[in-house]
Amino acid sequence: MRICVYCASSQECDPHYHEVAFRLGSLLAEGGCSVVYGGGSAGSMGAVANGALSAGGEVIGILPKFMADLEWGHPGLTRLELVEDMRERKHRLLTGSDAVIALPGGCGTLEELFEALTLKRLGLYFNPIILLNTRGFYTPLQSFMEDVIGQRFMNHEHLGMWSLVDAPEEVLPTIQATPRWREDARTIAVVRR
Ligand code: AMP
Repeated sequence: MRICVYCASSQECDPHYHEVAFRLGSLLAEGGCSVVYGGGSAGSMGAVANGALSAGGEVIGILPKFMADLEWGHPGLTRLELVEDMRERKHRLLTGSDAVIALPGGCGTLEELFEALTLKRLGLYFNPIILLNTRGFYTPLQSFMEDVIGQRFMNHEHLGMWSLVDAPEEVLPTIQATPRWREDARTIAVVRR
């Protein structure tokens, strides 16, 4: 499986987030998965890559050229693919992935996560989206999304588009247990009475 991982570049968050990212990377590699991520060397991005590489896994980074010029790229990846801009990077990360995992992160991670959710709602992406809820990071987002649905900006069925898991050990079993998203995604995309 090719797994797309969205995660933070911050070096200043609690180091526990980096430890969990490293563990996730090794678990994915041990599970025979390729990791596709943003290609950075900082923060949880670097940690997830290092975890997978340390377990002998394949890690593909997709990095905009301007970030490569800033030397933000990870130097030791299996493959670092340079792209023109952030839009192309997001497209290349998601396209062809068998699942998405979002780790705690900032606006970059959240933007990537919300793009994947939006495409799933519209029947343009059908694979599992897993939120790694380290230290309850995504619990407020879950409540927020329940309110979004409660206020009828989305349908109740859309709650099924993503899953929260507490620990990296739960990620692969949850991906395996998650069925492909409904073929009638477009018929439930519009909020109905
Ligand atoms: P965030 O969750 O806001 O840290 O977003 C992660 C995204 O931040 C990455 O996908 C990059 O687009 C961007 N980014 C910001 N700083 C860096 C950095 N030093 N190295 C690599 N990517 C970075």
